[in-house]
Amino acid sequence: MIIGIDLGTTNSLAAYFTDEGPKLIPNSLGQDLTPSAVYLKDKAEVVTGASAKNHLVTHPKDATSKFKRYMGTNQQTRLGEQNFRPEELSALILKSLKADAEVHLGETVTEAVISVPAYFNDIQRKATIAAAEIAGLKVRRLVNEPTAAALAYGLQDKDGENTFLVVDLGGGTFDVSILEMFSGVMEVRASAGDAFLGGEDFTDRILNHFLDKLKLKAKKVSADDLARLRALADRAKHALTEQSAVEFSYAYKGAEHALSLSRTSFEEMVSDLVARMRIPIQRAISDAGLRADEVDRIVLVGGATRMGIVRTLITRLFKRFPEHDLDPDRVVALGAAVQAGLVARDKALDEMVMTDVCPFTLGYEVSKQLPGHDKWEDGLFSPLIERNTVIPASRTTEGSVLKPGQTEIQLNIFQGEAPYVKDNIQIGSFSIRVPLNRKERESIEVRFTYDNSGVLEVIAKSLTTGNHKKLIIEGNPGALTQAQIEERFKELEKIKIHPREEAANEAILSRLAAVYENSLGEKREYISDLLSQFNTVLSSYDKRAIDEFRDHLAAQLESLEDSDVFS
Ligand code: ADP
Ligand code: MG
Repeated sequence: MIIGIDLGTTNSLAAYFTDEGPKLIPNSLGQDLTPSAVYLKDKAEVVTGASAKNHLVTHPKDATSKFKRYMGTNQQTRLGEQNFRPEELSALILKSLKADAEVHLGETVTEAVISVPAYFNDIQRKATIAAAEIAGLKVRRLVNEPTAAALAYGLQDKDGENTFLVVDLGGGTFDVSILEMFSGVMEVRASAGDAFLGGEDFTDRILNHFLDKLKLKAKKVSADDLARLRALADRAKHALTEQSAVEFSYAYKGAEHALSLSRTSFEEMVSDLVARMRIPIQRAISDAGLRADEVDRIVLVGGATRMGIVRTLITRLFKRFPEHDLDPDRVVALGAAVQAGLVARDKALDEMVMTDVCPFTLGYEVSKQLPGHDKWEDGLFSPLIERNTVIPASRTTEGSVLKPGQTEIQLNIFQGEAPYVKDNIQIGSFSIRVPLNRKERESIEVRFTYDNSGVLEVIAKSLTTGNHKKLIIEGNPGALTQAQIEERFKELEKIKIHPREEAANEAILSRLAAVYENSLGEKREYISDLLSQFNTVLSSYDKRAIDEFRDHLAAQLESLEDSDVFS
């Protein structure tokens, strides 16, 4: 069985394909969404998901999240006394999804289709594949997240002709894509995005509002208080999707403070964030050569599109309501499972062919002689595979040495949309020898081939001798070699993973601890009592007693967590 995985910045999910379509895989807590958070307990044991997310508040130094942002870089995260690469943190999430899938499906799972943002570059895509390998999963294919979303929706109407606009506002990223579906063929026509816009920015605005109300400066507040306030801000944001106002009480320096917010003032404080969403939407539509009214279906993806203000923007821009039949934060995982079904050549999907586009322009560095001058201008970017080219794609061009007599050509490969290479990202370089020719400038042929899994192959060939050289991407600071991946795999095997059966207990304990942090006086005493009672039951190792008490605690927590919220 190949599973589909949405490895999100905020939440991750797994799903699989059945005769009745894609199905989500619940985690050990019975939930579909596993927060992409990692917590190192007592410097020795790894906990992932909801418990880890709760520990972001109580143990900010031992827990981390949002590491997807660092994929493809060398940025290390310190937890306790250990450093973790972004691939390793992602691998820990993938490992827990794999374990959940194995329990749910009752079989070993070793292969996956993983979704990645359309704007992920080669290095980030390779880092995702490395993360999966470290987790013991072979990536059968990477699929762009908006493509997966459209695939989940497209299935319902396989024979129709549709132009989709996929608007994905997740926790930390905004991604817009235009996709076309005709007679069972899905094609991505254009994609655009903003890597620094997401639901968390909306939370930050509420956090700043709370800090203002408490007359606090973010820099002067302890990390612990900041994390607690941020958790409250997040709850306020979620609550405001359903109700018109919220009010919380917040315990700070021995006193209770009331923090309130109405939906109207929330919408005012985020209006510039919402306005920013227009730019990538417009770019994607114009890149696809369409007008807004030519888009047949508008699909909302990402938990943050649940916010009314986001839906209103889309409705205003397109003068009609967007679709949200499928849960916006589950649709990518469902689509990844459909893709997994495709990869496995599931009969039901046999005739459905997928195509994708290259999310950025790929090219190389050139120098140009200025017209009417001897002078050369260096550092220019020469695009070879343009943004939004349908892939797999192969393009060739000719280049030559600058002066007769030169016997080597240096090829610097870049991705990006800027005219000068200094503003783009260098993804590789190599040099090729050409024969000595003192009379004429020797020429080479350069071929770029970009395939569906986001791998770029560059071949340079001397036109005189036919000698050629293939690109091996070098100087790739964010990528692990195969040997390093294997080493990390072994390292991770050594790390103790918190037992899956205990995840439910761990989650309840961390929720209790978080509520304790946010309370004062009698409420604290009450929670403290609950905690010690639960610990006593836990030490009995009586599974039935533990399960019963845990259910009791869950019910208590519902009211403890919500008693300070009213509309
Ligand atoms: P990612 O793709 O980044 O993993 P998701 O699609 O799971 O993210 O979306 C996560 C974001 O959606 C978070 O910022 C979360 O606060 C936000 N979100 C989820 N549900 C709601 C809701 N009901 N109202 C407002 N925001 C929400
Ligand atoms: Mg997402």
